[in-house]
Amino acid sequence: MRSKKNILVVEDNAINRMMLCEILTPEYTVLEAENGQEALLVLQECKEEISLILLDIIMPVMDGHTFLSIIEKNPSYASIPVIVATQSDSETDEIAALSSGATEFVTKPYNPQAILRRVASIIRLRETAAIINQFQFDRLTGLYSKEFFYQRVRETLEQTPDQEYDIVCSDIENFKLVNDIFGTPAGDRLLCSVADMYTGLVGEEGICGRLHADQFACLMKHREDYRDEFFIQAGAQISKTGSMRSIVMKWGIYAVEDRLLPVEQMCDRALLAARKIKGQYGKYYSKYDDDLRNQMLHEQAITDVMENALAEEQFIVYLQPKYSIITERLAGAEALVRWEHPKWGFQSPAAFIPLFERNGFITNLDQYVWEKTCAILQKWDSIGYPPIPVSVNVSRADIYQVDLADVLLKMVSRYGLAPSRLHLEITESAYTEDPDQIISTVRHLRELGFIIEMDDFGSGYSSLNMLNQLPLDILKLDMKFIQSETAKPMDQGILGFIMGLARWMDLRVVAEGVETREQLERLKEIGCDYVQGYYFARPMPSEEFESLLKRQDSTKEETEAEASSLGSTSLSGYILVAEEDDAYRNQICSLLRNRFKIIEAVTGKEALGFIVRYERELSGVVLSLTLPELSGFSVLEILQREKAVWNIPVVATAPPDPRTEDQAVEMGADDFAYKPCSAKIIERRLINAMERSLSYESRQTLHEDACRDYLTGLLNRRGLNAAVRIMKKEDAPMAVFLFDIDNLKQVNETLGHSLGDRLLKKFGDLLHARTRSNDILARFGGDEFLVIMRQMGSEETALKKGEEICGGFQNAALTDQLPISCTCGAVIWNNDVPLDNIISQADKALYQAKLNGKGGCSVRHQSGLPDSSNDRQNGSRD
Ligand code: C2E
Ligand code: CA
Ligand code: CA
Repeated sequence: MRSKKNILVVEDNAINRMMLCEILTPEYTVLEAENGQEALLVLQECKEEISLILLDIIMPVMDGHTFLSIIEKNPSYASIPVIVATQSDSETDEIAALSSGATEFVTKPYNPQAILRRVASIIRLRETAAIINQFQFDRLTGLYSKEFFYQRVRETLEQTPDQEYDIVCSDIENFKLVNDIFGTPAGDRLLCSVADMYTGLVGEEGICGRLHADQFACLMKHREDYRDEFFIQAGAQISKTGSMRSIVMKWGIYAVEDRLLPVEQMCDRALLAARKIKGQYGKYYSKYDDDLRNQMLHEQAITDVMENALAEEQFIVYLQPKYSIITERLAGAEALVRWEHPKWGFQSPAAFIPLFERNGFITNLDQYVWEKTCAILQKWDSIGYPPIPVSVNVSRADIYQVDLADVLLKMVSRYGLAPSRLHLEITESAYTEDPDQIISTVRHLRELGFIIEMDDFGSGYSSLNMLNQLPLDILKLDMKFIQSETAKPMDQGILGFIMGLARWMDLRVVAEGVETREQLERLKEIGCDYVQGYYFARPMPSEEFESLLKRQDSTKEETEAEASSLGSTSLSGYILVAEEDDAYRNQICSLLRNRFKIIEAVTGKEALGFIVRYERELSGVVLSLTLPELSGFSVLEILQREKAVWNIPVVATAPPDPRTEDQAVEMGADDFAYKPCSAKIIERRLINAMERSLSYESRQTLHEDACRDYLTGLLNRRGLNAAVRIMKKEDAPMAVFLFDIDNLKQVNETLGHSLGDRLLKKFGDLLHARTRSNDILARFGGDEFLVIMRQMGSEETALKKGEEICGGFQNAALTDQLPISCTCGAVIWNNDVPLDNIISQADKALYQAKLNGKGGCSVRHQSGLPDSSNDRQNGSRD
């Protein structure tokens, strides 16, 4: 007959105890204890045999809570199920009992049926769990499975208290790669030979198990004299039987000092020691020591505060500029996070990113960084800086998030940004982990319009044939690689090869970690596109970066202004001179160089390469039709096909022949010059062609996203400037209106931003409805709108128009919870006063209108002289 199971009843009230015995005895053997302390003694005597504990809470000597907290800490008791008896009316008791580790509770007075049912079902549950745990052996290797290994180690430590032990763990470097390259069967064979090696290592009575994939562990008698040879030999054995060369294994050792520590944590410590030497050549093993212990404590401290730190916005986004190598102008930035801890001070990412990547917190931090980055971009747009992109780092863990694409897409649209403004830097090694999953996620992101950069290229192991399948736009060369490779001469380096590859795959290339002029020169030589590194600038707070942007913006205006003093419009950017005759080319270049930055090409192929690569920076081309390799005609033909470059002005040159001239113009050349003619003539034709295309180009840019405010669809400041640039004399006189939504801030705060947004949209629509199609409508700032109405010279008409719009807005109010209105200031613009100045006058009119009361309109006479005080009125007018 089956022996009865043992139940321990812990109850101070003798009558209750008796009752319980009565109920349980037919089915079970009952052991009794009067309080927690007695119960602990019973447990010590026969812990293995107890199937369940029935526990009273309120008892003298040691109460139920204390008892629970003690057994929960002891691994050999922790798995015994406990049913707690509580007063029927005491819900707090129940909650307290369950949270301190009880499995179930019953309420007093005892109901025999209910108790028997609970007891039986819980014992059954536990047995099932035990059966599951009986999968003692790892199917592949025959070693103990993880759970069972832990249990066996625990028992051994208890049974032989005087013997000192070590936990020894190992990890195979890049095991994933073994599977990828040699196939899973080979990977499995390798794991089996590791298991054999372990069994040999620990002998008959040793305990070894497989913890996870390629991680193994064993319990060995403690020794002080571990030597490299020992582990080298073990490794050699594996390589031999697994018939695979150069398998690198790292070992970690934890000398068991704290026997009460859960075995799982002992193994974690040993693995941590192994991880410390990952990637270090010639290091075979490492012991868990005080350093590692301190590191763990430090990591624990970080883990404890990280959530709070994020909530308190202690993390700050720094930006490191990226430059175009050819123009050496600002082309973008990388967002890098910093931690300003109130006590520990400034923390660099190396101190916390790897930890966050392990504990998963990186996804929270990354989203925070992305969001802050979007906010920065939005701010720049509203000021009207050039719309440069910023790249953010995307961790492997982020990619496994199911809704990554959704999160990113919603985020950019919330900030009114095109996805292409965010570049996503994904480290190369991510692609080697789970290529299929990563590739499909990244492909999706790319289809949505995000630009994908492969970070740290050259540090990982992505095979060249895989590179071909990866959804990528930009390769970002690993820093170490730049720093060692750039020292070598061109023809020896692998850099040149990679550049060729990148061109062939149509990828742009960024080099990071550029620290010296020499490195820069060499990168330039091999045709790298962008550079980032201390040579240019370190990562900096966004405000500092903004001043770089501002400076860049103003130097642009300077060069434009310089150029416009020569012609009437602004000419800037690069001129490509493609001419095979050295002497003639030099002659042209030396003249053009006074005014332009020059790129030279001597063959058609070279010319085309430059055009494709610098399409954005090119302002004009002088193209010889008799170039070698690829004729000038073929270059023209390709230029016509490529939409992105077809409006670059081209002056074609060839020996005198009217037919050639006709053909060139037919094929899209903007002008033609016989060769050799004087460089002066070429320059004149080039400038003319550029001026013609410039006004066309400005008109084009007005249709681009970068010129529009995302919310209202009106022009933004950038668009406004472009629109003003192409205004004609016939448009004058004009009325310039500045509208201000009166209560927007209050609406946002009390009724929510979405209503605020609707209000702005509404106003945009109203402007559309009440103006003519060739008037200029712009969202000028948060709640300010600028409108330029052409051919409106009368102050009276302007006033009427302004009042009409203000009135229309008041009637169209979306809410009656707050008074909604807008106020308007206007000025007539009829002479050569610059726009800035006119706006400042309109602003003064607006200020006057506000003084007269919200919702009205005021018109100012344009002051005859350019307004001397150019400051806008400050202070909140709301
Ligand atoms: P990374 O993505 O490879 O970033 C480039 C690192 O190189 C940055 O270090 C940058 O400051 C540094 N660096 C830039 N130019 C030079 C140079 O000329 N010489 C040298 N020696 N170093 C240069 P940082 O900011 O300490 O970041 C380290 C790593 O931490 C980053 O490497 C990235 O993997 C990670 N990280 C930083 N911010 C974030 C983030 O917001 N999210 C995620 N997931 N990872 C981040
Ligand atoms: Ca990066
Ligand atoms: Ca990198």
